[in-house]
Amino acid sequence: MKSKTCYVCGKSITAKNEIGLNRKLLGRNINKFYCYQCLAEQLEIEIEALMAKIEEFKNQGCTLFE
Ligand SMILES: [Zn+2]
Repeated sequence: MKSKTCYVCGKSITAKNEIGLNRKLLGRNINKFYCYQCLAEQLEIEIEALMAKIEEFKNQGCTLFE
């Protein structure tokens, strides 16, 4: 699998949940990815809120998350 890096800070993104969250929040066909930190800033929410969203999506049975 092609490695992804954060569009803003260049940090490599390897976690399935991190990639899944990008797709879920920004769209499935995006070509820019953000790490948790930069995604939270982008959306103007706390990282804790992002983590809560992951749990929420997992509970919905979304296959983008593990
Ligand atoms: Zn970043």
